[in-house]
Amino acid sequence: MDKFDELKNKFPEIKVNVSLKNYCNYKIGGVAKGVYEANSAEDLVEIVRFSKREGISFYLIGKGTNVLFLDEGFDGLIIVNKTNEIVIMEKGDKNSIIRVDSGVTIAGLISFGLKNNIGGMASFYCLPGTIGGAVYGNAGSFGMEIKDVLFKVEFYDLDLDIIVEKDRDELYFGYRDSIFKKKNNWIILKAYLKCENLDSNLEEYQKNLKEIAVKRTGKQPFGASCGSFFKNVYLEDGTVLYAGKMIEECGLKGEKIGGAQISPQHGNFILNKDNASSEDVLKLASLAKEKVRERFSVELQEEVRVGGGITDY
Ligand SMILES: Cc1cc2nc3c(=O)[nH]c(=O)nc-3n(C[C@H](O)[C@H](O)[C@H](O)COP(=O)(O)OP(=O)(O)OC[C@H]3O[C@@H](n4cnc5c(N)ncnc54)[C@H](O)[C@@H]3O)c2cc1C
Repeated sequence: MDKFDELKNKFPEIKVNVSLKNYCNYKIGGVAKGVYEANSAEDLVEIVRFSKREGISFYLIGKGTNVLFLDEGFDGLIIVNKTNEIVIMEKGDKNSIIRVDSGVTIAGLISFGLKNNIGGMASFYCLPGTIGGAVYGNAGSFGMEIKDVLFKVEFYDLDLDIIVEKDRDELYFGYRDSIFKKKNNWIILKAYLKCENLDSNLEEYQKNLKEIAVKRTGKQPFGASCGSFFKNVYLEDGTVLYAGKMIEECGLKGEKIGGAQISPQHGNFILNKDNASSEDVLKLASLAKEKVRERFSVELQEEVRVGGGITDY
């Protein structure tokens, strides 16, 4: 019996030979040897620990809204984070402290807040993905980043085999960045958020949510994508060069390779228009990088995590 069969014996819910297209917003990717859905933080720690011990490559995802899987698939285990507990730890006069499993979606979190009179997250309305993914990349939207409501993270350190808590200030958050991007062996389990209570502001909050939804629909192209493909470029003097604008100024809006297209609406969205392969998307991304380098002398960096043919762990 090989290592993977042993894993399958211990976790019989593992599905084998599964198309990665079903696990990412891009709807791109080959076949994964196995897919396992972890339903609790304990379950997540157990599968990760066992995979590491058995030397099986794995790749953890939330909703797969910021990953591009490769056409060659993944010769290992994709772990889908379905952990879903939210606990109100403290309800103060003005703020509440909530502990959120990393697999909870932003949509689920906002809706939990509405039911429990907790707000402060309107800017994140309609942001796809999980809390784990948002903490990993310090997701941001309409002037707020996830770090602005976060004060502590609980994670599993795979190398040391311990669960650790760290305060926000120890997690090196930056623009679409956190320590978790460097420490690939740290699995985010829970986030502690401090959010304002709604009380008399409920109506105004609901109005904000609607406004954000309208802004998002107006701003973002419809279709299969990973959101912004590249990060904006921050120069040392504080100037921001917007990736989408630079790509647009290179005349690349609407450019197609195979089934992939740079959105005619937004230069930083590479869409899967017509059964695109990861190769199509990556070729378009290379073209955009090359043209931007030539014209603006800056190097675009991917915001999307290109994975599936590699293991991050
Ligand atoms: C239409 C669209 C619009 C978007 N708009 C925005 C936007 O406005 N702002 C923005 O910031 N992003 C945006 N995104 C990108 C994406 O929504 C965010 O990056 C989101 O936070 C990713 O969450 P996820 O659960 O889908 O992560 P995934 O895509 O599943 O994973 C992303 C990375 O995080 C790692 N990861 C996930 N969970 C964990 C965990 N528990 N522990 C350790 N590592 C983990 C994965 O290994 C992977 O490397 C958009 C995407 C789409 C498709």
